[in-house]
Amino acid sequence: MEAGGTKMVCAVGSGLNDLEETRFATTSPEQSIREAVSFFISTQQRRGSIRAIGIGTFGPADIDVNSATFGSIKNTPKANWSNTDLATPLRSALGDIPLAFETDVNAAAWGERKWGAARDLDDFVYITVGTGIGGGAVSGGKILHGEGHPEMGHLRVPHDREIDPFDGDCPFHGNCLEGLASGSALQQRWQCDPRELKEDHPGWELEAHYLADALANLTLTLSPGRFILGGGVMEQSHLFHKIRQRLSQRLAGYLSLPELEEFIMPPGLGAQAGVLGALALAQDLISTIPSQP
Ligand code: ZN
Repeated sequence: MEAGGTKMVCAVGSGLNDLEETRFATTSPEQSIREAVSFFISTQQRRGSIRAIGIGTFGPADIDVNSATFGSIKNTPKANWSNTDLATPLRSALGDIPLAFETDVNAAAWGERKWGAARDLDDFVYITVGTGIGGGAVSGGKILHGEGHPEMGHLRVPHDREIDPFDGDCPFHGNCLEGLASGSALQQRWQCDPRELKEDHPGWELEAHYLADALANLTLTLSPGRFILGGGVMEQSHLFHKIRQRLSQRLAGYLSLPELEEFIMPPGLGAQAGVLGALALAQDLISTIPSQP
């Protein structure tokens, strides 16, 4: 299951070519969980028992398996969703089966590694630029965790108010990366749906400028072999070229980077990265269970 701020994607299957999927709008926690459970139960009746659950959720999320509230969304600005426990209702409906719980971007990164644009890469970063901005990293072949999980969307990037007088719209920080470069920030700054901005609109140069700053910081911190940039805003494919150019300028020859077309890429799995990543996480859990004699 991919629990997103605007939509839920649920799927049951064994891989890329065997997947039953449904999508519905994210409403209240109770109703959204009820819809997910009813999809899983009806699919299970046709296909047989579900063996493991993988969840990728919007955050912040409690992904610490040793925590009493593992499997919950923590304090979130999304109305009514703070402290929502996603794991318990799914497990009580589907049985006490193994459950993996990650942020949506960590899950998407894992899906891209298994089936998408990061196959066989041990070090890369997945970033989504949509209504908000989030990022997940795989480092040394593992999803990068800290005490919690990375919050790359809230990185600080230089903000020159003479060029860009917009204050930023992050409810916590104002002009962090998300506050300046998310789809919601674009909408606020230009007072229109960002999809209506033409390719030569100066807003896209500014967008590439902020994203390149963030990628430069992440390159210097994590030394990734690739960036995968997804989300609604990145459907503006001209942004890729603009970001590559600027990132190269920012780093000024200090690092020898891979070919920029290979270094900054769109997701291989498109909008399915999150749900397929959750599936991959669930499969990893099954593979660790000893098989019955
Ligand atoms: Zn912020």
